Amino acid sequence: MNNPAIPYKIYLHEHEMPGQWYNMRADMQKKPAPLLNPGTKQPMTLEELSGVFCTELARQELDEATPYVDIPEEILKFYKMYRPSPLVRAYCLEEKLKTPANIYYKFEGNNTSGSHKLNSAIAQAYYAKKQGLKGVTTETGAGQWGTALSMACSYFDLDCRVYMVKVSYEQKPFRREVMRTYGASVTPSPSDTTAIGRKILQEHPGTTGSLGCAISEAVEAATTTEGYRYVLGSVLNQVLLHQSIIGLETKAALDKYGIVPDMIIGCAGGGSNLGGLIAPFMGEKLRGEKDYRFIAVEPASCPSFTRGKFAYDFCDTGNVCPLAKMYTLGSGFIPSANHAGGLRYHGMSSVLSQLYHDGYMEARAVEQNAVFEAAEQFARVEGILPAPESAHAIRAAIDEAIKCKETGEAKTIVFGLTGTGYFDMVAYQKYNDGAMSDFIPTDKDLEPGFASLPDLD
Ligand SMILES: *Cc1c(COP(=O)(O)O)cnc(C)c1O
Repeated sequence: MNNPAIPYKIYLHEHEMPGQWYNMRADMQKKPAPLLNPGTKQPMTLEELSGVFCTELARQELDEATPYVDIPEEILKFYKMYRPSPLVRAYCLEEKLKTPANIYYKFEGNNTSGSHKLNSAIAQAYYAKKQGLKGVTTETGAGQWGTALSMACSYFDLDCRVYMVKVSYEQKPFRREVMRTYGASVTPSPSDTTAIGRKILQEHPGTTGSLGCAISEAVEAATTTEGYRYVLGSVLNQVLLHQSIIGLETKAALDKYGIVPDMIIGCAGGGSNLGGLIAPFMGEKLRGEKDYRFIAVEPASCPSFTRGKFAYDFCDTGNVCPLAKMYTLGSGFIPSANHAGGLRYHGMSSVLSQLYHDGYMEARAVEQNAVFEAAEQFARVEGILPAPESAHAIRAAIDEAIKCKETGEAKTIVFGLTGTGYFDMVAYQKYNDGAMSDFIPTDKDLEPGFASLPDLD
């Protein structure tokens, strides 16, 4: 093949941007198990889901048959402000590592929210607006999702109420301020504004909150306020659908130069960036057209894939959300402090869980110090200061590139660089001071979480 020199950055033209999202479930022989109603334990119907989510999003959540979904014009218009995002050849990193591997990363940190989360936030805000809603509620942990959603809501003039995990609310005042700048109201969770929040406060006075608890509060706020629905930034099928824009662009960029990746690597919190990045490639694998290695990278302190159970579980602490079948550490699992806040969720996308269960993907867990070592190595040669979450993927990409050096194989590695780390400088400070800890839960530490699993399978 006549392959012109490959530029540092492969940008697509606007007209080369995908006009449709891709739904992996359509090509899965074995579909992910349905969401269950937490009360009746029966599959959630469209009507039931529509009480929590916007109707169109509920429809997307349940649709496992349609492979391609048109991206509405208004969303495409917004995407074009910061997309197509560049696919970058990491020439400098390759040189530094002296590896024969070809390394590429898809950079999603090119917008004010600083991560890929805006891709789904804008879609969810659009459907909420189209339904004539007044506003949406959500939770945020580290703050990336809340930031992305507040940007999306201000664009469509929707009210945005964010329940922010209390410890982050106090420790990350700047993220909070970005949200307020975009017009969102931010409440530290648990709060006394909801029944579940009051209950948690009574049972655990002085708690600094958790993602599962903030989800419960946001769902309660949405379902008890007229004209509001709840939105979620990861885990759900609809979010993976919206995030497929990442993978579709990546594939278009690679195809342009005749590049075929050997492996695709992404960090995994709830699975949305990874699910989006691998989507069209996984589609080829599922249809038997091509083969790739897919690697999910998670923190050793919150190892949902590598040490979790594949079971139905609650998505939140208050057990008000639908049950999902997924790799999970149990909704009662409390992860230790880890600086990759976006990867501290107990569960995992049920699409990715099913694919992993069926052997289509691999997963590995990495420790915090090794992650920050990779982050700094990357920042120093590639110029981008990565989010701690993204640095999990960098760690695995570097490890694979070093393996190539040992075997002399010129493999092509693509990884997702989900965002920038400017709001995570306290974590970098800890690492630079040599004060970062590596915590790996023992089997005994995992027991209480597993004990909280509902008895359903
Ligand atoms: C939220 C977040 C993640 C993890 O979420 P997924 O749904 O697993 O993609 C990764 N990187 C960044 C920068 C994030 O903000």
